[in-house]
Amino acid sequence: MEIRFEKAKTLKEKPDQSALGFGKYYTDHMLIVDWDKDQGGWHDARIVPYGPLQLEPSTMVLHYAQETFEGLKAYRNPKGEVQLFRPEMNAKRMQESNKRLCMPYLEVEDFIQCVETLVKTEQDWIPTAPETSLYIRPFMFATEPGVGVHPATSYKFIIILTPVGNYYPEGVAPVKIWIEDEYVRAVKGGTGFTKCGGNYAGSLKAQEKAEAHGYTQVLWLDGNEKKYVEEVGSMNIMFLINDTVVTAPTEGTVLPGVTRDSMLTLLRDWGYKVEERHLDVEDLMEAARTGALKEAWGTGTAAVISPVGQLCYKGEECKINNFETGELTQKLYDTLTGIQWGKLEDKFNWTR
Ligand code: PMP
Repeated sequence: MEIRFEKAKTLKEKPDQSALGFGKYYTDHMLIVDWDKDQGGWHDARIVPYGPLQLEPSTMVLHYAQETFEGLKAYRNPKGEVQLFRPEMNAKRMQESNKRLCMPYLEVEDFIQCVETLVKTEQDWIPTAPETSLYIRPFMFATEPGVGVHPATSYKFIIILTPVGNYYPEGVAPVKIWIEDEYVRAVKGGTGFTKCGGNYAGSLKAQEKAEAHGYTQVLWLDGNEKKYVEEVGSMNIMFLINDTVVTAPTEGTVLPGVTRDSMLTLLRDWGYKVEERHLDVEDLMEAARTGALKEAWGTGTAAVISPVGQLCYKGEECKINNFETGELTQKLYDTLTGIQWGKLEDKFNWTR
């Protein structure tokens, strides 16, 4: 794919690396590729100055939400080189999301070329302070103007970049998780396995409710029976019950997380028993009451790992591991971030 470059006339000042936060600053350039049915598909790949888009009020995404996105990071390793972590997984997941939403998609090599070319252009923006990285947000949406529900005939694929610090300002510290028994996120046959904006819009109500009760994030139950544990707001979730790690299977309602897959691989490599299975919320609460539930943690690109220190289900609150970060949780965090930042051997060939 040929990518044209239009350089920004003035470059922005880089932010203070000790106060990056998450998603507060955007780099000088963005990448755009257009897709038009009547022009034979993808065309006009370009890197241009970061700035506002002009859209007609009738633009279809604004009405019918044909939109998908991804999230990954670029890291600076101790040698000063830049590395990506399993970008092909994001490329493939975006393909699956787009297929479900009747949208065209980029070939895996083209997706990776777009990411690599933009990151290379903006490499001075990759922060070097500990625990920092450059968050990469590819997304795609229907640009065809017109009210009337049908798959659009034109789209934009865009990538923007934002230098980030820790997702949670307090670092790796236990969070309180609200098990939601009224609203649901996904149902069988729906869009739960995709990263489409609509999934997140539909989740906000429960998130507000959790926050009103003093909880950080929502743990979703399955949309059919509200009985089985699925995933957290923007993370997959794993439980160490006695000596076994249990997590929900990816059968269409749960997002297949890159971090989830990487941690399951590490756990199996370390000889842990791992079960991808439906876990009844009543059994989970019973395990929390008896202490069989040793540790619980959320997994995702943004925060990497979030230890779960407390669960609340139907008014009952249970602490996990005395509201402290567990040993296995910490080991997973140290190992995965060690590989991502190029400080540990990458025996699975995950970085490039
Ligand atoms: N579940 C949901 C709903 C998410 O939004 C995310 C973040 N992409 C995840 C799980 C974790 O996925 P990943 O490890 O690929 O970031």
